[in-house]
This record gives sequence, structure tokens and C-alpha cells, in this order.
Amino acid sequence: MLDYKKSTCRYCDAPLAAPFLELGSMPLANNLPRKEDLTVPEFACPLSLVFCEKCGLVQLSHVVPPELMFSHYLYVSSTTKTFQEHFADYAKDVRARLKGTSPLAVDLGSNDGLLLACYQREGMRICGVDPAKNLAEEANKQGLTTLNHFFNKDSVEEILKRFGPASVVSGNNVFAHIDDIQSVLKNVFNLLTDDGFFVIEFPYLGTMLDELLFDMTYHEHLSYIGVTPLTFVAERFGFQIFDIREVSSHGGSLRVFMQKQKGRRPVAAVVGKFLEREKKEKHAELATYQAFAAKVLKVKEDFTALIRRLKHEGKSICGYGAPAKASTLCNFYGMTPKDLDYVVDDNPLKQGRFIPGAHIPIVPSSHLNEAPADYVVIFAWNFAREIIKKISHLEERGTKFLVPLFNPKHALPGENPFLIASEKARA
Ligand SMILES: [Zn+2]
Repeated sequence: MLDYKKSTCRYCDAPLAAPFLELGSMPLANNLPRKEDLTVPEFACPLSLVFCEKCGLVQLSHVVPPELMFSHYLYVSSTTKTFQEHFADYAKDVRARLKGTSPLAVDLGSNDGLLLACYQREGMRICGVDPAKNLAEEANKQGLTTLNHFFNKDSVEEILKRFGPASVVSGNNVFAHIDDIQSVLKNVFNLLTDDGFFVIEFPYLGTMLDELLFDMTYHEHLSYIGVTPLTFVAERFGFQIFDIREVSSHGGSLRVFMQKQKGRRPVAAVVGKFLEREKKEKHAELATYQAFAAKVLKVKEDFTALIRRLKHEGKSICGYGAPAKASTLCNFYGMTPKDLDYVVDDNPLKQGRFIPGAHIPIVPSSHLNEAPADYVVIFAWNFAREIIKKISHLEERGTKFLVPLFNPKHALPGENPFLIASEKARA
């Protein structure tokens, strides 16, 4: 097997030490096998987190080539209402910060064009860039101009030639997914007007630490970003962070705005507040991450003990939602079809496939009525409220809901920390 081990830090080039958390050898979270694939051994590689003691970036120890992960991507962003609202708000936020008529917006990792469509509605010219052929085709079919390309020097040249420089370049949940971030920053710098800005959204390291969200770890997600290391790498490539907004997608993400150094926009006070918070929470110390890892291992012990107990009592259990985190959780917890009968997901592209590694079948949510389970593990816990509302009729029949990690926000007092209930049942 090929070795994908990373020897130096993505942001500062310092040599990397040993991982502080090893989740085990894992398949690719978004490559959901079909039935006929199950007999062929799946690609797998260690999923481990390393902390760079020089710049503070938390990153994966192993990097799988993007061609293996992103050339046919099953994740389609417009499948949930939450995302649709999120991007409509996002496009408004971006437009409000730009002067002039019909500025050019370039979206990196534009997926099926959900954000591009929102930009268009705000009166902006658009160009998406996405390496997934199926998604780029889908977007172009809808009139949302998308280059089927990885973002690199060539795609920058093509955009400059066809559309001119961009007033805004955006990258949502791509900045954390790209290995060669130094080239991305150089290319974005060259693509932007002097007055333009780069806006990125990524799951925030601070939230991951606070709420023990280790399930956001998967092979595609290479960097676990805090504002301190981001400031370092932004400045290294001629950028200045001027604003930050907290957003709730993926259970706590940041939207960070950066302009070229000495840009016209004043730096908002919130930037300094984040840097201060990270200092106070000791983001720059290895011990912080070692403590995090110890807690993660304890959650694994508790959750797997709970599943074992329920199975011993003869209970049936299924899962709800098959996002990437479901793969991380199932594999880290060692779940098999003996533990979970099935996982439901409303994305038709995922139905008929299996959770990678764990090989638990993914079926439509109508299955919940046909083969009711005593317990439903909500893997897409960041949509737990939406989901529980949708399936609260099962609760009346005695089905109980679990979240697969310890989240004090969800816990019912006096009961097991993984149990959650609808507001109606709580009242
Ligand atoms: Zn570093």
C-alpha cells in the first residue's frame, strides 16, 4: 500500500510530530460502496490528528490524493433546506460588502451550484470551480457556469481570460479539504481585484474542542482550523483577516473574510476576540489536544457499551443520516450490521449503498415505518431538530433517539448522555 503520511505542516512547513489522536485505519467516508463492491477490499488508510507546535494547525497525519476522493462526489449541497437558507443568507452577506454593479463571484468547490444560484439572485456574475464531473455537469445544465477543474494556476488563467478578475472568491468547506493551501492562497491572490476579498467557511476547531466533535474527522477534511494558525498563513501570503462571523452549519463553523494587506476595510473587533479566546483556551498547547483525545476515547467506551447493552436486551437499532461523520463514527465505534440494522438517508444517490467499512445498508426513510426500530441513532446530529420533528410519530410508538457522541446540549437530565427527545416528549 502507498504511504500518504505527511511529514511537514501545511501552513508553516515545520516537521510534524506523532498524532495525538488515532481513530484507526478507515475507508473514505464519502465513497459509499454498492452491493457489488462489498466483495472487493476497500481502500483504507490511517485517520489520525496531528498538532503543529509551530503554527498551531491541527491536521490529518495522512493525506489521500484528491483524485481518489473528489472525482465523483455523492454529497449534493442543495439536498437540505437548512443549507438552502444558509447560502441565501451567505450571498446577501457577501453582496453587502461589495461595491459596483454585477461584480464577479468565483466559488471554489461549488458543488451543484447552490451558492452560485444565490449569488446570481443578488445580481452578481458567477463562475464555479469543481473537480467532480457529475456535479459540474449538473450545475452547467442549470445555467450556473462551472469549470470542471481543480482550482489551480490553469483555472485562474482561464477565469481571468473569460471573465476578468474576481471581486470575491469563496470556498465553503473546501479550505479545510485542500492539501496544498499555500498554492490556493497564491492563486486566489492573483485572481482577486485589489479591492476584492476571499471568504471561507470551515468547521471551527474551537467548537470541535468544546463540544468534543471528533466525528468531523474524515480523510477529506485535512485541516482543523483555528483563527490563530489561519492568521499566520493568511499573512504569509499577503492577506489580512478583517471579519469573522459564526455560523451554525456543521455544528459550529466560522465564516472568515480576508482582503489583501492594507485593504480598505477596517479590521473588526471580533478578529482580536477570537485570537484572545484561543489564547485563553490554550489552542497553542499540545496538552489541550491530549486531553481532547482522552475524552474521545472515553466517549467511545461509553457509547459502545450502551449499544452492547441494548443489543443484549434484544433491542433493534438503526441510524438516521449517512453523512461523512456516520462513516467515521461507525468505523471508530466498530459498528456492523449486527449492531445497526440499517441507516436511512433521504439523498437518493446514497440509497442502495452502504456505510463504508461498516457495510451497514443505506435505505430511504420510509423504511423506518416498514421496519420500526427501538432506537434511532441520529448520525446527522447537526440536523437533529429537523429530523426529530420529522419522525416524532415514531416516538409515540416508543422509539427512542440517540446521538452518537456526548453533547451536553442534547442530553436529557438524569438519563444516559446519548439520549435525546423531541420538544413535545420533553414537555
Ligand atoms: Zn505549522
